[in-house]
Amino acid sequence: MSNENKNIHEFDFNLICEYFSSIERQGPGSPESTLKALGFIDNLSNQSVIADLGCGTGGQTMVLAQHTTAKLVGLDLFPGFIDRFNENAAILNLQDRVKGIVGSMDELPFQAEELDLIWSEGAIYNIGFERGINEWLKFLKTGGYIAVTEASWFTDERPAEINDFWNEAYPEIDTIPIKMGQLQKAGYIPVAAFCLSEYCWTKNFYEPQVEAQKVFLQKYPDNQTAKELITNLRFEEEMYQQYKDYYGYVFYIGKKL
Ligand code: SAH
Repeated sequence: MSNENKNIHEFDFNLICEYFSSIERQGPGSPESTLKALGFIDNLSNQSVIADLGCGTGGQTMVLAQHTTAKLVGLDLFPGFIDRFNENAAILNLQDRVKGIVGSMDELPFQAEELDLIWSEGAIYNIGFERGINEWLKFLKTGGYIAVTEASWFTDERPAEINDFWNEAYPEIDTIPIKMGQLQKAGYIPVAAFCLSEYCWTKNFYEPQVEAQKVFLQKYPDNQTAKELITNLRFEEEMYQQYKDYYGYVFYIGKKL
């Protein structure tokens, strides 16, 4: 398809989407951490409904589907990711109870108290952790769960360079006790919090990108957006390698009171 008739924004958007569609995960994580978090959830049956918000191409959603009998809805803003998501569900023969839909996490298409579990890996930052956990609460049944990963500080103090980097990228990053306090204040029992292992970032997220970046830059050698995207991603990785003792993703699990 030609890009001539598209405006620049739409072209950039599609390009970024194309890049992230070429890798299995769009954020740090692992099947092991998905299953560890799932281990805290005790109310699921084949009558349950799980929503995976900001599901991307569905890496973690398919893991959830293979380890529960629930109905799953994956929701993402990017239609390209949802197409891939539904292809992946069909390949795994899960299409009868796993469905990807295009939508926004700030305007969820669910009924009040419809959901047994809200899942979101590496995505709640798009509307902010505190806003997300508060706004999503009404869609959960009483006794339903929320399980999300969120960038968090591991220490009270950290070097200025990484502090500034994150305060620019996502000022809502905070320490684990603060995030647990926000869960409790929003109306959840703070059930658990655990840090994702380093390999969720390195082996599962950054390493597959080395080849993906090569292919992408070869395909778009003169494209400024492509170059900037890759430069930013490489810088982000450098920051992680240098400062991983100070921050990472934390899985937060809460139960609606
Ligand atoms: N959960 C996936 C993807 C994480 S990347 C994984 O861990 O691999 C973040 C995802 O959030 C992207 O797929 C992006 O398209 C999606 N996203 C961004 N803003 C969104 C919004 N407002 N509503 C729904 N999804 C959104």
